[in-house]
Amino acid sequence: MKLADRLNYIRDSLYKAAEKSGQNPEAVTLVGVTKSVPVDLIAEAVRSGLSDIGENRVQEALKKREELISILPPEYPGPRWHLVGHLQRNKTKHAVRLFDLIHSVDSFPLAEEIDRRAEGAGRVLDILLEVNASGEASKQGCGPGEVEELAQEISRLTHVVVRGLMTMAPLAKDPESSRPVFSKVKTLYNRLAVHRFPRVKMEILSMGMSQDYTVAVEEGANLVRIGRALFGERHVR
Ligand SMILES: *Cc1c(COP(=O)(O)O)cnc(C)c1O
Repeated sequence: MKLADRLNYIRDSLYKAAEKSGQNPEAVTLVGVTKSVPVDLIAEAVRSGLSDIGENRVQEALKKREELISILPPEYPGPRWHLVGHLQRNKTKHAVRLFDLIHSVDSFPLAEEIDRRAEGAGRVLDILLEVNASGEASKQGCGPGEVEELAQEISRLTHVVVRGLMTMAPLAKDPESSRPVFSKVKTLYNRLAVHRFPRVKMEILSMGMSQDYTVAVEEGANLVRIGRALFGERHVR
């Protein structure tokens, strides 16, 4: 299958999953995760209509953005950039200039550093709180029981806006095994939505990857992060 066909296939599946769960199918955002994907393939995806790009590493994203600008004709609006991987505090300065949304905020010190750097860059940055809902020790993210307190703490900061939550389900063969994890995070999302802390809005629920994105949308995700299903199996660096 060509990339444009895979893109259409995924959009179709997202549409059906959204309809099934009573969500507005137009409101589901597809982020193409481009870690290790060569820039010419990313450019092809953008030309085929992909408007959101996700990266795991700040340096790699910086480099790719510059290359993309030189490849794509000027009439293409630049894609939106998402940081989906863990952010090291010493990379925050670059991250706040590059990314439109940081998905991986899981502690107050990190939020504070983003806030400080965003202020320095004259921006207010959109962030998501990453929740480790499966309890796997290897995963980033704050525990489900800590999210409300973290959101409240972060609501004091004036240069970040919490737009929602992000989670990753444990890797498993069966996409159904992700369902309870997604459902748990959706419940947290609903609970946070009623709090009305300043600058904390529940608008974006980022969950679902190549193998479980339809399950995620059925459980309420309105943003999915897809790498392999769109770009093919991992490309060698
Ligand atoms: C790699 C990655 C994805 C995409 O994973 P695929 O299995 O390639 O779809 C999504 N989210 C995060 C945080 C990732 O690191």
